[in-house]
Amino acid sequence: METIVRRIDPRRIDPSAVEEAACVLRRGGLVAFPTETVYGLGGDALDPGASAAIYAAKGRPSDNPLIVHIADLSALERLASSVPDAAWRLAKACWPGPLTMILPKAACVPDQTTGGLPTVAVRFPSHPVARALIEASGRYIAAPSANTSGRPSPTCARHVEEDLSGRIDMILDGGECEIGLESTIVDLTEDVPTILRPGYYAEADIRRILGSARTDPGILREDSNVRPKAPGMRYRHYAPRAKIVIVEGKPDDVVRAILTEVRKETAAGRKTAVLCCGEHEGLYPDVRIFSAGHLAREEEIAHNLYTTLRRFDEEGIDTVYSEAFETPSLGSAIMNRLLKAAGHTVLPA
Ligand code: AMP
Ligand code: MG
Repeated sequence: METIVRRIDPRRIDPSAVEEAACVLRRGGLVAFPTETVYGLGGDALDPGASAAIYAAKGRPSDNPLIVHIADLSALERLASSVPDAAWRLAKACWPGPLTMILPKAACVPDQTTGGLPTVAVRFPSHPVARALIEASGRYIAAPSANTSGRPSPTCARHVEEDLSGRIDMILDGGECEIGLESTIVDLTEDVPTILRPGYYAEADIRRILGSARTDPGILREDSNVRPKAPGMRYRHYAPRAKIVIVEGKPDDVVRAILTEVRKETAAGRKTAVLCCGEHEGLYPDVRIFSAGHLAREEEIAHNLYTTLRRFDEEGIDTVYSEAFETPSLGSAIMNRLLKAAGHTVLPA
């Protein structure tokens, strides 16, 4: 199939491009579109055939459920069989925006969309193109990240084209995604609101809004006995072809350890690089350096992370030694993605 790419300016949305994409969705087709987190691969969430097509295009395991995107609050009551007070409070504080809630599903949501689970994931995105598209389609839009399963999530239309060109009907190119990491997922079916995937909103933010919050133990450590509750978090993810090793410790020790490891790898004939914060760029002489962004501007690191992971592959890098980016608010989301990309390979400095 030929994939149509339409440019669309988020500040001056061309209604004819949106209508063309909405038409594709209404007839069961797939459209990739920008959101404030990453690009999503959209299909009609209540059409089992469209959900099946999403799994096929991405090569995604069919037990990994999809997030359903909405463009007005009333949709929550149609997709969920019950909506607790906590959901309305979270919606008031975080929607439209980078937050997904898990609720018991209504009968209209097909098992294909929820990967067979009795719950549904719902998000109201803030990106103007996403909102315009959902509204124009008149549907609820299932939209996982628009990457091939296992690859880093796409933060611009070019990434989507790299992975899915020829496999989906259309891409709306609305430029770069602002945040660059996927939404925070909060499970509201548990007694205590539980973060199943860290994102823009940290545990402390959710606790401030709801009075209590915890993080699913399954995503905090690599322990096969503690299974993450979000099925997607079980899979190797966000991974470039390069091997990534995260080096942790005191900053001086980390720099020294990375330089030693880089020398060894290079001597062994492997194309080696360093991923570091902008503040440390000058500390690694004669090494191919990728700066993730400045620690002092953590949103810059989140914004750049997936593009940087893809650049390792573009340059044919074999091994990457990375600093850790334990920043105050976005640090848990950034490190969650980086640890998964590294297959949890951590070297103490
Ligand atoms: P993606 O949209 O590709 O970023 O992935 C969506 C994430 O949401 C995956 O990790 C899913 O496992 C998770 N998810 C979606 N629906 C549910 C649900 N009902 N319960 C738990 N996790 C979910
Ligand atoms: Mg994804």
